[in-house]
Amino acid sequence: MALIELSGIRKHYPAGEQDVEVLHGIDLSIEAGEFMAIMGSSGSGKSTLMHLLGCLDQPSGGEYRFAGRLVTEMDHEQLAWLRREMFGFVFQSYHLVGTASAWENVALPAIYAGMPREERKQRAQRLLGELGLGERLEHLPNQLSGGQQQRVSIARALMNGGKVILADEPTGALDSVSGEAVMEQLRELARQGHTVIVITHDAEVAAHADRVVEIHDGRVIDDRRHRPLHEDSSRVVAEPPAQSSLPDAAEVGEAVVMALRSLRANWLRTLLTLLGIVIGVGAVVVMLAIGEGAKQDVVARINDQGTNLLVIRPDRGQQRVADGVIATLVPEDAEALKQLPNVRTAVPEISGSVTARANGQDASTNVQAVTPDFTSLRDWRPAQGIFFGEQDQKAYAPVAVIGQTVKEKLFADGDPLGQFVMLDSIPFQVIGVMSAQGATNWGEDQDDVVFVPLSTGTLRLFGQNYLRSITLAVDDVAYIDDTEQAAVELLTQRHGQKDVRVFNMASLLDMVSQTQNTLTVLLGSIAAISLLVGGIGVMNIMLVSVTERIHEIGIRMATGARQRNILQQFLTEAVVVSALGGIIGVTVGVLVGGLLIWLGMAIVFSVPVMVAAFLCATLIGLLFGFAPALKAARLNPVEALSND
Ligand code: ADP
Ligand code: MG
Repeated sequence: MALIELSGIRKHYPAGEQDVEVLHGIDLSIEAGEFMAIMGSSGSGKSTLMHLLGCLDQPSGGEYRFAGRLVTEMDHEQLAWLRREMFGFVFQSYHLVGTASAWENVALPAIYAGMPREERKQRAQRLLGELGLGERLEHLPNQLSGGQQQRVSIARALMNGGKVILADEPTGALDSVSGEAVMEQLRELARQGHTVIVITHDAEVAAHADRVVEIHDGRVIDDRRHRPLHEDSSRVVAEPPAQSSLPDAAEVGEAVVMALRSLRANWLRTLLTLLGIVIGVGAVVVMLAIGEGAKQDVVARINDQGTNLLVIRPDRGQQRVADGVIATLVPEDAEALKQLPNVRTAVPEISGSVTARANGQDASTNVQAVTPDFTSLRDWRPAQGIFFGEQDQKAYAPVAVIGQTVKEKLFADGDPLGQFVMLDSIPFQVIGVMSAQGATNWGEDQDDVVFVPLSTGTLRLFGQNYLRSITLAVDDVAYIDDTEQAAVELLTQRHGQKDVRVFNMASLLDMVSQTQNTLTVLLGSIAAISLLVGGIGVMNIMLVSVTERIHEIGIRMATGARQRNILQQFLTEAVVVSALGGIIGVTVGVLVGGLLIWLGMAIVFSVPVMVAAFLCATLIGLLFGFAPALKAARLNPVEALSND
């Protein structure tokens, strides 16, 4: 059985409306260990035939058997296996990868055969040494002469064994001395047992071979043997793997190394591609940190007011008006509410505007008549002096505690303690000055206030004891809703009807944080869109990269890369770019956020957001890199190779 058996092989190419047939039924049988030449004039179909022999292209008709196996029925994976394990190519224009050194070019086929890196390097260096290039291992192809490049490509053909060496015009681009040397090397390979098929238009070159097959216009017109076949030529067994193997860690690692190299080769472009992802990821990180910061800021302000508070006010709809006030809540209600479970304290309050006078100064201010518990309820205490106590409350003492604003207005140049302030012409003695509290969220000055005991206030200032509010502080916020309900029930029972409304600080907090969450989602989606745009940038650049490297893809396929390897390589590049962009983006986001914190903005970083943004970027690389990678993997090896 012959190693290679062609019968009736046809090849036609589409040309305009109809096809043009280039090979018109080639019958050829090649034994293992043969050193043969296929000779013919330019355009006779030699290269086309070689591409079919080397499984770089598929015939339009006829049968091709390799070691007894029907090649015409093999799938992509098996064809790649044949190219990788059985064939070695030597081309007229060398077809070396321009960005890889001599030894790396030689080692290329072994990557796809799964040989470990060190072993690969050693074997490549040994092969180059045997071909007299031991000194040129690290040279790039453009640093080598034509003859040297051709020897590199011969070494590459031998890397995985190269049972069949297919050489298409190997001397075509060389001077006669280098050409002789190359032919001598091919003869030597044949002597060692390789099957060597040289394609040439030159009868002198063909004369080196033991057998010359001449083709003309796509037909074999002559087949002569000058020397007998080696007796010792061994039988070739070709057993392609039945199933495609899965990529292993080493293969993925190799793809990452290759990806980093090609990204480095185009570092400016890589940088610009990265920029899209960096901005997207950075924006997500910063925007969400700003949103979360704003939310926590507002929540903290509300918390300052006390989320454990329930404020009970008369219901405006249930008016029982006495002297212009809603006559509903009375101080005894507060005493009753204090008895409810979970109620720590209940502070009744009446307030109103008064004219305060002291030291010959007038100021309109707000007076609040409260019980002594007020200070613990609001966690707000005097800065000077004391707050009034139960004694003052019981004794209807005419004492007052003033806020900082009132102090400034009336006692600008003296100590107010012990002095008298006239509230609507009634004298009160100042016993304390509250600490500064600042403005509320809605801009009200909380320090423009005078506190007096509830008893004194109802008797002397307001002339009635209907309350403006009762504020409850609960012990456990978890049960605040139950306490609210109990308070309403109690008051309804006491008043004979439901005539109060309760303001729950906790539910206000819920509402506000929901609003802020919406804001955060909004900011986040704007950022996510920019991430998406970054992803489209990756796709764009990968498409350019594939187009630019079609020739390299062709070389990789000729040396045995599977479709999967090519797909994996470009996907890896896309993912590496995106992941790199993700890491830089998170870093930039943190730096920008740090700057904003330094500028006094409320920023709250979230590690899950950072991780998610990074993963998102990587995923986007995978998604948007897929189409370009698939495009590369589906290229036809011959067409890719001819794309110089
Ligand atoms: P040789 O190598 O003997 O010089 P080729 O095999 O390269 O010849 O080409 C044989 C014929 O096939 C030529 O006429 C060429 O124009 C044609 N041919 C080769 N490749 C293609 C192709 N991809 N599409 C169309 N025609 C092609
Ligand atoms: Mg040719």
